[in-house]
Amino acid sequence: MVAAARAWEAASAVPDPEVPCVTVADLGILRSVEIEGGVAVARVTPTYSGCPATLAIELAIEAALRDAGFEARIERVLSPAWTTDWITPEGRDKLRAYGIAPPEGPAGKAALFSVPEVTCPRCGSRDTTRISEFGSTACKAQYQCRACAEPFDYFKCL
Ligand SMILES: [Zn+2]
Repeated sequence: MVAAARAWEAASAVPDPEVPCVTVADLGILRSVEIEGGVAVARVTPTYSGCPATLAIELAIEAALRDAGFEARIERVLSPAWTTDWITPEGRDKLRAYGIAPPEGPAGKAALFSVPEVTCPRCGSRDTTRISEFGSTACKAQYQCRACAEPFDYFKCL
């Protein structure tokens, strides 16, 4: 395998520290990994600038590249800004399987302030209600399903 592909494989397998069921590649946070002058350069776009997990994610990617035998450098790419649209279809399936409703509808600032209609990840019912603005992390809100009574996290559109 060529070095760049091997480096991508190592970096893309890093789980998100807040949602360990998905990888940084599933979330679209890891933009690219290239070999530049013998150094694996991983370009990372944080989910949002205030997300406390950003540094942990960067350190984990750097460590994964080092473990795979690379000299590593992380470059933070802020533009274009990450949106939940970047979460891959595979990533959305994994979130659902983990009991987290993936973001619905187009991303955007309005989504931050509106209360979206959310599908229950367990039973698929649309009859859900928001019980808390913030779930286990600031990136998520807590919902409850009226059909199956299960509380669940919703990954907010950003
Ligand atoms: Zn349900």
